[in-house]
Amino acid sequence: MDEVAAHKRFLRSREWQERLRPHHLMREPLCRFCAALGDVTAEDVQVDHIVRPNGDPVLQRAPENLQTLCPTHHAAKSQYERGDCSRPLIIGFNADGWPVTWTPTEGVDG
Ligand SMILES: [Zn+2]
Repeated sequence: MDEVAAHKRFLRSREWQERLRPHHLMREPLCRFCAALGDVTAEDVQVDHIVRPNGDPVLQRAPENLQTLCPTHHAAKSQYERGDCSRPLIIGFNADGWPVTWTPTEGVDG
């Protein structure tokens, strides 16, 4: 099984759907990126794997590898993963107009 298929299979599993995902959302109900920008987004939030597990059972389940994102930020993060990850992802701009960035290792900066 390839890595993408393995990941999709895991996301359909009962363990993810009924245990890991709801447990994470109980601890972190709001989009992490929106919160860093001073916004509150709880609607339609999704649980993102910070580092794509590609079938790795530890990365699939580690609480510190999970973050809550809104659909907009999840899409931006997924697009970022497909591109040049040597630069940080710009998740938005602060009140002074400066970019707020995120990397898988450093988290939110700005
Ligand atoms: Zn968001």
